[in-house]
Amino acid sequence: MPSSATIRTVPSVWAATAAPGPDLPAIAGAHRADVAIIGAGFTGLTTALALAEGGASVIVADTVEPGYGASGRNGGQVIPGLKYDPDTLDAMFGPETTAFVGGTADVVFRLVRTHGIDCDPIRGGWIQASVKHAHLPALERRMAQWRARGADVAMLDAGAMAARTGGTGFVGGWIDHRGGSVHPLNYACGLARAALAAGARIFREAEAVSLVRADGGWAIGFDNGASLRAGQVVVATNGYTGRLWPGLKATVIPANSIQVATAPLDADQLARILPARSVVSDSRRIANYFRIGPEGRLMMGGRGAFTDPRGATDYHRIDAALHGFFPEARSLPIDFRWAGRVAMTRDHLPHIHQPAPGVTMALGYNGRGVAMASALGGAIGAHLLDSAQPLPLSLSTIRPMPVHGLHPLYASAMIAAYRVRDMLER
Ligand SMILES: Cc1cc2nc3c(=O)[nH]c(=O)nc-3n(C[C@H](O)[C@H](O)[C@H](O)COP(=O)(O)OP(=O)(O)OC[C@H]3O[C@@H](n4cnc5c(N)ncnc54)[C@H](O)[C@@H]3O)c2cc1C
Repeated sequence: MPSSATIRTVPSVWAATAAPGPDLPAIAGAHRADVAIIGAGFTGLTTALALAEGGASVIVADTVEPGYGASGRNGGQVIPGLKYDPDTLDAMFGPETTAFVGGTADVVFRLVRTHGIDCDPIRGGWIQASVKHAHLPALERRMAQWRARGADVAMLDAGAMAARTGGTGFVGGWIDHRGGSVHPLNYACGLARAALAAGARIFREAEAVSLVRADGGWAIGFDNGASLRAGQVVVATNGYTGRLWPGLKATVIPANSIQVATAPLDADQLARILPARSVVSDSRRIANYFRIGPEGRLMMGGRGAFTDPRGATDYHRIDAALHGFFPEARSLPIDFRWAGRVAMTRDHLPHIHQPAPGVTMALGYNGRGVAMASALGGAIGAHLLDSAQPLPLSLSTIRPMPVHGLHPLYASAMIAAYRVRDMLER
């Protein structure tokens, strides 16, 4: 990574519209802290915030800077919930975990309020939209299970979907009023500021390249020769995970999620398209997601190839989804196209690992990490301050995927198969 790279060099609508981030030093020399955190995305920053507020000395290090990874590039959709239904989560982990998962969006909006983070928070609800009649029973089940747990949710018929989205082709869906949206890069920088205010130190241009035991704690070496000693280490590198810890990289498939943002909509379009400023994902296995973004731009995102996109033609599926749902967008120029890496896991769940005393890792949000990573970071921070505070997910061992190096081949084949299944359903 060239040291001159910053999140501002990513051609995203977020980078173009973000307030300046905090002024941070590049790492140099030798440092000590109670807890070292590798990765300054939502996971690392919320962990740092919780720890610093609890009185621990904390240092966060990022290869580039806060928000450089998925946290500064995502769709900004604040979605409570994982890909499993609440009853299934109960059976897998118990009702406390389900309650934690259902409360993750609350955590984001609470952090924004408490720390006065200027990131355009809107609680307009998250809609899971369906273009397939075959998907509606599953959506109804999911909605009913959350409703039984007291969530403010409702089914939407085709007419309600047309009115709430201003788009075409939806046969139904459900709305989860707990969800909403933020400007993710401003949210990440706001979390960084809050952590700094609580006493954490954050270094940019700090790529951790080694992690070894030392003096009953851990020693981290950086690419430029700087060093950091800490009693505890939290690895929060998600889809940008490298070879710092044996086998960790191979527990996730780093997949590109790609997005486009149109030119600003006119007043009439803004009144018709997502009038309540809800955010939407569709229910297909390989889903698209959309919202209104900064300056009234219509944004659409979805799965990209495993190689980084190089030009406009690599976004043709997203353009097609945009024009499919919103035919009027054909006449709108696309002003921004960008990509970022999500971390997919075999079981579609995030994982917490503690592979050695004093080392904690959290990753694998499967493209749903704005709310989950924010909440999980806080929970990890609380647990490290006081081990009596339970972690919300059970710990798992690091299980590298076999032939991980070939993931672009087998994951592409799997995605192609999913797309065919999506296409065949009615
Ligand atoms: C295009 C896109 C759209 C998305 N849309 C949504 C959405 O709308 N809603 C939603 O809920 N989720 C969405 N996601 C997923 C969500 O953004 C992520 O799950 C979440 O941001 C993960 O946060 P994180 O802190 O764990 O990881 P990241 O934000 O990826 O941060 C990891 C950080 O680790 C740093 N790093 C890596 N290795 C090292 C090292 N050796 N030393 C130091 N630093 C290192 C990287 O520079 C990076 O900054 C989207 C993701 C993408 C890419």
